[in-house]
Amino acid sequence: MSQRSSLRVPSAAVSRENSSREPSPTGPTRSGSVAASPETIWSSFRLAEGDEIEFHETSGGRKFRKHYCLRCNPVEGPVFDTCWTSNAKTHLLSKHKIDVESLSSSSLRDFSFNRDKYLALLVLLVCRRKLPFNIVTWPEFRQFCLTLNPSIESCLISSRSTLVAHITKVYTFYRDQLQVKLQNAKSSIHLSADLWTSPNRTSFLGVHGQWVDERYTLQNMLIALPECTISHSGPQQASYIIELIRSFDIGRNIGFFTADNAGSNETCLRAVSIALKDEYEVEYDAEAHRIRCMGHVINLSLHAFLLANSKEALQAKITLHSPQIPPASHL
Ligand SMILES: [Zn+2]
Repeated sequence: MSQRSSLRVPSAAVSRENSSREPSPTGPTRSGSVAASPETIWSSFRLAEGDEIEFHETSGGRKFRKHYCLRCNPVEGPVFDTCWTSNAKTHLLSKHKIDVESLSSSSLRDFSFNRDKYLALLVLLVCRRKLPFNIVTWPEFRQFCLTLNPSIESCLISSRSTLVAHITKVYTFYRDQLQVKLQNAKSSIHLSADLWTSPNRTSFLGVHGQWVDERYTLQNMLIALPECTISHSGPQQASYIIELIRSFDIGRNIGFFTADNAGSNETCLRAVSIALKDEYEVEYDAEAHRIRCMGHVINLSLHAFLLANSKEALQAKITLHSPQIPPASHL
């Protein structure tokens, strides 16, 4: 149904909008000045997560990004946050007895834990390998991470909801990118759809998109996978596809629709046609845009030839599944 694309989870999507650590405002310096670089100081901090406040806004309307201490244990109390490297340095020294200026480059390397990368790879691991969200609470998994770097205990995620929040962020990041790609398409966006029921009896409607992008390259992608909780009827399938069209705002650019020979697909496409007329004032001829999936046709044909025990039974099977195909004697 879809090609397997290589999922690269950008750390930008996980914990920040900018790809590199943003230059942060350096606050008033104490005598002795700040010798350690901002990168060195901020390596013990992270950006806001979940409901945390992202920016500090001054009375003059200037906004500064907040940094949260990675070494503070949230279980013990509020995590220290600041926008200023001088405050960060003072906090590290007073609370955690870490003098960043005295750290040698080798000792810095000992704490060269890239939390953005950790989050990105954790999201990738859980999604790609279909692992449960509570992996972050498994003592074995935590021990494994700590074996790699014993100093990162306070940096590890320990809550399922935090992991879900990061996965949602990655999903939103890619979905927004996909929306831009679809809206910049140089061709119509052709859809193909099929229903599938998982071994645990959950039904999904896979919707696949094919279009030519702004670089005139053909693109194939799974663009939606709604769970079908109500029924498999044509109108119900149409409601998922209409929602997809609405959410990506691509109603004026829908091309052909490929699906198997089930009659519900005709009903579905007629409902989509009505919705496109109502919502986008687009004339969409459901019959002209309907393509029957060649893979399904070949499959049905093979079944008919292999399993039919008479010429009449063969003709009946072909007619049943493909009423628009001429009788076998005409082929
Ligand atoms: Zn701290």
